[in-house]
Formats: sequence, C-alpha cells, structure tokens
Amino acid sequence: MEKHYYSLNDWAKEHYGYKLYKLALDGQMTCPNRDGSLGDKGCIFCSANGSGDFTNANLSITNQLQLAKDKIKNKANTNHFLLHTFNHLLIPMHPIDYLQKIFTEAINDPEVDILSIATRPDCIDNDILELLIQLNKYKPVWIELGLQTIHEDTAKYIRRGYDLSIYDDAISRLKKANISVITHMIVGLPGESRKQILETARYIGRTNTFGIKIQLLHILEGTDLLVDYEKGKFNAMQMDEYIDILIEILQVLPPTMVIHRITGDGPKSILKAPLWSGNKKKVLNTIRKRMDEVNLKQGSAIN
Ligand code: SF4
Repeated sequence: MEKHYYSLNDWAKEHYGYKLYKLALDGQMTCPNRDGSLGDKGCIFCSANGSGDFTNANLSITNQLQLAKDKIKNKANTNHFLLHTFNHLLIPMHPIDYLQKIFTEAINDPEVDILSIATRPDCIDNDILELLIQLNKYKPVWIELGLQTIHEDTAKYIRRGYDLSIYDDAISRLKKANISVITHMIVGLPGESRKQILETARYIGRTNTFGIKIQLLHILEGTDLLVDYEKGKFNAMQMDEYIDILIEILQVLPPTMVIHRITGDGPKSILKAPLWSGNKKKVLNTIRKRMDEVNLKQGSAIN
C-alpha cells in the first residue's frame, strides 16, 4: 500500500520492529490554566477533565497501567506496551519528588518502552527539565506540547495562556536536552482561515522536532466553546473541508516529521459537534481514500 505520510506505526516499526500500543494514564495533576495559577476557566475547548477524559484518575499509576494493559491484551496478542501517555499536565507547583515518583513508577514497568508526557511549554521549568533528562537516560521520554495555533488572536480567544515565544523557548531547551517533542495543533479553530492553519503547520514543521498531532476541533459539552457555537459565532468543520486541509497540512510538513495523529478522538459521550467525527472508522477510511486520489506525499509542498 502506498505510504502517504510518516505515521507513528511506521516510525515504531523502523525503530523497534513492532507496533507501539498507547496507554492513556493520568498523573492526577492539575492544569495551571484551571487551578488559578494562570487562569481558572481552562482553554475554551477543554472539558473539565482536561485531556484525561478516558482515564481512571483515582487509581495508582501501577493499577492504571495494569488495567490499560489488560484491556489491550484482550484485543491484541502483545507483550509490548510501548507508549505511555500521561493525559494530564505536569505543573511546577507539584513537588519534583512527586513527579519523579510517578514517572519512575511508569517507566519502571518492563513493558513500557517510552514515556510520553503531555504538558504546556510554560510548565517546563529547569527542575522539570533536569528530571526529564534523567528519565530520558533510562528510557526515551517524549514531551507533547499543546500549541494549537501560532496566531495570537486565536490563542487569546481560546485562552491558551502563553505567547508563542514561550513555545519557541521550550522547544529550544528540550532540543538541547535531547528530548523528543511532539506538538499538538488544532484545525478548525474559530476565525482561522486556511492560510492561517497552514502557517501554523509550516511553523511547527520548521521546528524540525520529532512529531505532530493534528486534531480536529471538537466542541464538547460543558465548554465555553459550545456556548459560542450555539450562539452561531462559528461553524464546525465539515468532513470534506477537514480532509482537504489535513492533506494540505501534511504536504507542508517535513517528510521526517512523525505524524502521531490525523484526527483525534473526542470523548463521544460529550461530543456536541462535529458529530461526523464520532465515526472514526468512516473518517479514517474517507481520509485514506482521498489521500490515494490525490496521491499525497508528506512534504511535497514545502517551500
Ligand atoms: S487544554 Fe490543556 S492547557 Fe488547556 S485547560 Fe485543558 S488541560 Fe489545561
């Protein structure tokens, strides 16, 4: 089958010889954009559980790991649990000892090959960076940064809570520390044009970092984004529209950048729009078909 983009599965097969199975865990941490340190409302699109809507936050890391692994082992004949994702954020207010304890607990599992931590660029202080460097000596540590957009007007609207320069600084320090970075971008943010979306993609591409997660904007129950959507302030993306821009995004990313996600899984129970995104199988099949039709090549439109 024609390879249209450099997926995480491709990368894993090249580097490990097998597929990475993702485990979503929760370190029971708060977010500075919710706990009052930066803001108390959170990003406009984020549900109260942050990105941890799928996890068992009240269990220990070891128990969460076991449950998550058992679930996968029921479906896949594997002993390789390779990607370990903390779905909540580390923040400087958490004592470094606590962070060290939970990350070490996760990384010590012999079936976990990689520790991937989702966070914000403004949370990477020197103590945390030093901890990441130490953990990275034992097993690979990846850092996922929720940039979403490079456009400051949109960043203000979504209440991201930090400037682009903070992202640039975090990228530079993480690169120096030899930590792989995956940047999250959201497609379909209110008011953003196709040109602006592609500017964000090109910017992320130019960081020359490890990977990117491309996420369709989901409008979730209980968010202020839903309030604006119901007032008619913006439209949710249509599937064709999303696929067209996704293809353009992949064309402007370096062929070496690993694509960790091309749509995103919104928690279906609270997904309000776009509802078509709830049918992941259909969405992925339509994306694949369209990629074949246009004979997509990642990086073919870099200039
Ligand atoms: S999206 Fe991330 S940074 Fe924003 S409020 Fe939610 S958990 Fe915090």
